[in-house]
Amino acid sequence: MYIVPESAIADLISAEASFDAVEAVFASMAKGDAYNFPVIREAIGHEEALYGFKGGFDGKGMALGLKAGGYWPHNLEKRGLINHQSTVFLFDPDTGRVASMVGGNLLTALRTAAASSVSIKHLARKDARVMGMIGAGHQAKFQLRSALQTHAFEKVISWNYHPEMLPGMAEVAAEFDLPFEEVQLEGMTEADVVISITSSFAPIFGPDHIAPGTHVACMGTDTIGKQECEAELLARATVFTDEVAQSISIGEAQHAVKAGLIMETEVNQIGDVINGVHKGRSSDDEITLFDGTGVGLQDLAVAQSVVEIAVERGVAIEVDF
Ligand code: NAD
Repeated sequence: MYIVPESAIADLISAEASFDAVEAVFASMAKGDAYNFPVIREAIGHEEALYGFKGGFDGKGMALGLKAGGYWPHNLEKRGLINHQSTVFLFDPDTGRVASMVGGNLLTALRTAAASSVSIKHLARKDARVMGMIGAGHQAKFQLRSALQTHAFEKVISWNYHPEMLPGMAEVAAEFDLPFEEVQLEGMTEADVVISITSSFAPIFGPDHIAPGTHVACMGTDTIGKQECEAELLARATVFTDEVAQSISIGEAQHAVKAGLIMETEVNQIGDVINGVHKGRSSDDEITLFDGTGVGLQDLAVAQSVVEIAVERGVAIEVDF
């Protein structure tokens, strides 16, 4: 088997390669060539950690495996480690033998950023000019950087629950020589695309903060009970997701479906848009909303790319197992 340690990942995969891997696997999921296994996520009663598994099988890309890991809230303060920790395991689909073990921390950040960017490419208006960010944590920088690489935005605006974190977003805008402005939530109506990526358990924004024609990518809600936007916004928008089963159970749509504001059948797979089966945005006034819940197949897709490059460059560690 091959081992690709976390420290090697940054030199092996770019945001662009992550984008391509995620777009391809979303397309395969919608065609039925790839499917995710049910997610396991447990509060283990130690260190207040949430630990679990996200896995699947991509019969087109021939990726089989899982990502194991979760969230240890005290890692940073106690040990100087990042709070999200994960490792991806890939298996040979022909034999079931373990094939690779790959550091999953940076890959998670890149594949999550790629997902909102894929949604921007396929659902935002082509003339979108202002990029709006809600959230300014670890993951927000990856989302913003990837969005700015995907579409030619002219300005970045941002709001965060903890405003002292906003300079981090200004730094990313500066990398692209773009003007940056801190706004109140009411000011978010200036944005043509909004990405939310927070750990909120209560709605932050809703229809009052989103202008007609905006594309919204809600990326923070990946667990039962989490919520970033008012359920009413999903009722006003055309809703897309990575995977419908996750969207209605652990994603943003869980609340709108529970409240009876939308039905499961109104949640569309982004892969259908990529494959040309769903036309995506139908007018310049329509609000499109991508509920990005994060699927195991995204992790497998980027891990597989990394292993291929690592083997090619001779940096994968080979062990007999
Ligand atoms: P982080 O801890 O670095 O940042 C948390 C962000 O949430 C900050 O902007 C913070 O100000 C904000 N926040 C904290 N409490 C809040 C509250 N009560 N109301 C509103 N905002 C609040 O975390 P991160 O690594 O940036 O991850 C952000 C979220 O994204 C997490 O909830 C994580 O689980 C989720 N996530 C989702 C995916 C996916 O695939 N969908 C992948 C990775 C992370």
